Amino acid sequence: MTATRPVVLPNPERTSFGPVLVLESLTVPAFRGFFENLGVGGVQISTDGRFLQVNQRFIELTGYPREQLLQMRVGDLDHPDDREPDRVRWDAFLNAGADYDVEKRYVRRDGSTIWVHVTAARIPMGDDEMTIAKTVEDITDRVVAVNSLREREQRLREALAVKEEFLGMVSHELRTPLTVILGLANVVARNGSSPAQVQRTVLEIRESAEHLASLLESMLVLARVGEEAPELEPILLDRVARRAIERHREVFPRRKVSLKVSTTTPLVDGHEPWIVQVIANMLGNAEKYTPAKGRIIVLVGRDGEDVCLRVLDEGRGIAAEDQPRIFEAFYRAAHAVKESGGLGLGLAVCKRLIDLQGGQVWASTREEGGAEFGFSLPALDADD
Ligand code: ADP
Repeated sequence: MTATRPVVLPNPERTSFGPVLVLESLTVPAFRGFFENLGVGGVQISTDGRFLQVNQRFIELTGYPREQLLQMRVGDLDHPDDREPDRVRWDAFLNAGADYDVEKRYVRRDGSTIWVHVTAARIPMGDDEMTIAKTVEDITDRVVAVNSLREREQRLREALAVKEEFLGMVSHELRTPLTVILGLANVVARNGSSPAQVQRTVLEIRESAEHLASLLESMLVLARVGEEAPELEPILLDRVARRAIERHREVFPRRKVSLKVSTTTPLVDGHEPWIVQVIANMLGNAEKYTPAKGRIIVLVGRDGEDVCLRVLDEGRGIAAEDQPRIFEAFYRAAHAVKESGGLGLGLAVCKRLIDLQGGQVWASTREEGGAEFGFSLPALDADD
């Protein structure tokens, strides 16, 4: 094996390593020991890119045996995507005197990728010749940590944007019924309205106040995580549905809403206020997304071990792209955003409340057009 000449450097001119000292007392074995045991990868390369020397750390880093590395060229280890930019920097280093201080990827012998920090320095060899010394440091852990921090920062930024958008929507949604309530209250406060007018205005105030209350309730339901259902009790689903429909008719007297019950055992284990809210949300949506002349039908029936309630409407149904996300909090179809107000919370609330009672929710487009929204709860048979 040829002795490594750069040990005793011919002149103290400046290289990329800084002023070179002439280390006359450093013997070849001492230098080799030092080189082999460096904590970073160290290589000596010819100007045409062949490895002349590689140290132990570089062998570990790349996973190739020494003999194989000495057959390879400097770009062979580069990740395919890094090759071209690296070639440009390497040319600039060799031919234009630029520094070489690069972070890039190596592909190891086993196919895995590592990140490395590589610096290169020219080592003058006399007679206008030179070789190149490179240090190669494995920085994979740092790059992975920095990337994961960046990803986290990006997610945080997205979450903040969602929060800001949400706050904007919430304040808009809350302000609308509040403005109505204040305006109508001022009308009532003024003298001169007939008792019948006052009565009508108060009913409108109540409607807006109820809307406000239900918005706040929805937000609270979704904000409470880890909640468990209160003690469940036997509930006749058809009776709750009838009451919800009556309530709906009071607010929307023009809408045709009918109830069909096809089971003699509509008894489930549930929490009544929650079931009332789920039906009200589904009816409210059917109202909102169905043209004035469309009918709404509520079906209560048995399905195996469950009792199901379905709300059928004659609206536009659900687009395929919306289907998978429709029960997500704050998700609204593009048409809904354009055509109507809403926060996209109603269905998320339905899902949460039915999940907590051990049931399931679903949504589909009906063959005859319009949407079907429904839920099922385990049936409570008379002999249970
Ligand atoms: P919101 O009605 O406030 O947007 P929801 O959570 O109740 O929020 O509904 C989420 C989305 O599901 C709506 O934006 C709408 O796109 C769609 N959707 C809900 N109900 C119906 C329905 N009956 N027909 C068609 N689309 C519906």
